Amino acid sequence: MVCDFMLIPNRDGAEIDSPLDLLPLPNGTWDGKIAYLDRDGVLNVGSENYINSPEELVIFPNTANSVAALRESGFRICVVTNQSPIGRGFWSHENLHNIHNKLRELLLSENPNAHLDLILYSPYAPWEGAWARKPNPGMLEAGRQIISASEKNIEIKLRFDNDWIDKPDESDSIMVGDRDVDMRAAFNFGVKGIRCNPEIGISDVISEILGD
Ligand SMILES: [Mg+2]
Repeated sequence: MVCDFMLIPNRDGAEIDSPLDLLPLPNGTWDGKIAYLDRDGVLNVGSENYINSPEELVIFPNTANSVAALRESGFRICVVTNQSPIGRGFWSHENLHNIHNKLRELLLSENPNAHLDLILYSPYAPWEGAWARKPNPGMLEAGRQIISASEKNIEIKLRFDNDWIDKPDESDSIMVGDRDVDMRAAFNFGVKGIRCNPEIGISDVISEILGD
């Protein structure tokens, strides 16, 4: 499929390149590593028929503690989720925003350090060939540039694919997903992919990530 480089990610609650206010990490300064996290089957229970409303969203046991543990060990958190129901015309960006507000609320109610720094999503249908849609790396590319620019307090100027020439080292970063498409996106971006059991979610792999 030919990729459409104009179809770039969307950002929950804001324009893609508007400034991002980052909360301090629990244990001090950031050393550059990002945990790119798929959503369904990683943070919350997935569904063959999509998560269509805030009421349908159920987080896995220990998701909040796992996200908090990542932040406590210095990772910024960037959710990267394909959400084709928008492009298929099933429901709106606003509906997805409400689902993400519920996700943030559930996580923080279980652990105040379970903060999601950034949520990016691809609203496009599969046949649109979007650069944003996993297995393409557009969301990861945008996530890195948004978080790095915001940490430095400089303007966000997004570049994609070969137009982005000063890609930083991602050897301390990770991408967690439950499907092949996530592992392919990780490979295409150049970050280590870690696959979790879709029935367990991120807590399945947290000790592998943190090495304890
Ligand atoms: Mg998934």
